[in-house]
Amino acid sequence: MTSLFPKVFVDFDGTITTHDVGNEFFRRFGSEAESIKAVAKWKSDGMSGRDLILKEAEFVKTTQSEAVEFAKSFDIDGSFRTFVEFCRQNSIELTILSDGLDFYIREILAANRLSEIPFYSNVARFDTDTIKIDFPYESNCPKCANCKGQQILTRTGIDDLIVYIGNGFSDRCAVDYADIIFAKDELLRYCEANNITYFPFESFADVLSKFRKIFESKRFRKRHRAELKRREAYLSE
Ligand SMILES: [Mg+2]
Repeated sequence: MTSLFPKVFVDFDGTITTHDVGNEFFRRFGSEAESIKAVAKWKSDGMSGRDLILKEAEFVKTTQSEAVEFAKSFDIDGSFRTFVEFCRQNSIELTILSDGLDFYIREILAANRLSEIPFYSNVARFDTDTIKIDFPYESNCPKCANCKGQQILTRTGIDDLIVYIGNGFSDRCAVDYADIIFAKDELLRYCEANNITYFPFESFADVLSKFRKIFESKRFRKRHRAELKRREAYLSE
């Protein structure tokens, strides 16, 4: 009956990893006080996502090899690999969307032999002991440097069923366009406050158990509000 097929998008920091690596990187190698101030300003809509990262990067003092070593010290959710396997066996596309930085995502995926997963993020360029940030996916979104909502619009079509898994503030634009949402922490509270239907999760074991049931029942239904939002966006392009 339905020709819909799911496409899965996953946040990185605090969703795939057990900690927010980006945040901890800026606090460890930049200025913790400036980071806390800037993040608070960004969350109250007083600063764009791009300006937030530029502000945090301004204080960073580290070499590339030190930053890479730091990245390697972070763990991922122990059940993420099983979820990835399930997607692979069922030919479901899985993409990581991050408003963080490429170097630690690349290192952590490689350390866990998951480098084949495509990811889209901002880009850090190391220059002796400082970093410069590039924004390859800049859009007109005032909240994000790499807007996950825009990424979803770019990477899906009208017949895709969009699944999104995330935990934080920078996932807000993504859930606007997603049909099936798995949320925890700050994103869960956002969904609650905005009457957005979601499934709560603690780990990818929870995500897999629910997602497997939906996938096997083939009961794919678009979320009405997300569909309207996408249609609006496709038409305005
Ligand atoms: Mg996150």
